[in-house]
Amino acid sequence: MIELEGLTKRYGGKMAVNDLTFTVRPGIVTGFLGPNGAGKSTTMRMMLGLDRPTAGDVRIDGKHYDQLKDPLTYIGALLDAKAVHGGRSAFNHLLCLAQSNGIPRARVHEVLDTVGLTAVARKKAKGFSLGMGQRLGIAAALLGDPRILMFDEPVNGLDPEGIHWIRTLMKSLAAQGRTVFVSSHLMSEMALTADHLVVIGQGRLLADTSMADFIARNSRSYVRVRTPQRERLLDVLHEAGVTVVEAGGGALEVDGGKAEQLGELAARHGVVLHELSPQQASLEEAFMQLTAESVEYHAHSDAPSAPQWGDDWKKG
Ligand code: ADP
Ligand code: MG
Repeated sequence: MIELEGLTKRYGGKMAVNDLTFTVRPGIVTGFLGPNGAGKSTTMRMMLGLDRPTAGDVRIDGKHYDQLKDPLTYIGALLDAKAVHGGRSAFNHLLCLAQSNGIPRARVHEVLDTVGLTAVARKKAKGFSLGMGQRLGIAAALLGDPRILMFDEPVNGLDPEGIHWIRTLMKSLAAQGRTVFVSSHLMSEMALTADHLVVIGQGRLLADTSMADFIARNSRSYVRVRTPQRERLLDVLHEAGVTVVEAGGGALEVDGGKAEQLGELAARHGVVLHELSPQQASLEEAFMQLTAESVEYHAHSDAPSAPQWGDDWKKG
């Protein structure tokens, strides 16, 4: 378990991490989601005692990182896969880590096998592809057989096969009862991997929710309609207690009801429709809306706030 309490980091005038309080629990994959520059890496560095908080606290199983005896046996982390000494072989890199942390040599062979690098273990790491480097970083994280694992943007730059492998690995580590904390700036990636979601923007906590809840609340379904009798349709919908959002290109977005109901309602009032199409808002859109205020530089957007059907309409 990882517990953050009011965790804050200021760099000069810049609040990189702003009063974060949340808990990362064992047995599940917790996704740590935020746009670039949101403060994910800074938060993770503070968790590992690599950066000192300006205020607040992080505890790993109740202790500060520097109070942990043999920390690699408590928490393993992949922060920057390029941080490997390129002149060493994969085997020697892991052996050095093992020896300086009281971890038996046999464990090096085990983790090389787990990440699929046994065949290239004696090759110099500087010749490794990005994917192999990532696997080596993960082998290092697993070396102490820790109950807590942390991965900072592990799938960045990987091919689909590598991404699939990392996803499967994280899920299996969580299924073994471990605490798995993984960051990403991609909602689509989190949706496939995480059971729980912590979202930050500009250093602040924006959401701390189960993935299932986030999906249920944010996968907005609506019906897109276009009509040459716009005012007439708006009146009909207004009478039915339906809230409508003006979309681009003269289209209207009608939330919550079915296309059939809307088509029949229009027909009853003699309104001609040129388009009647059910739509599903993506989680990516939900994430962008959630973080829109907190993105440092973003294009102007006039995303609508979530509208509501009247309850009468839902029953009808
Ligand atoms: P993320 O990992 O979510 O992309 P970071 O934690 O890397 O975000 O950065 C958060 C903010 O803190 C950014 O605005 C970044 O420029 C700033 N920052 C990060 N590290 C430093 C540092 N060592 N010195 C000054 N500013 C930093
Ligand atoms: Mg980062």
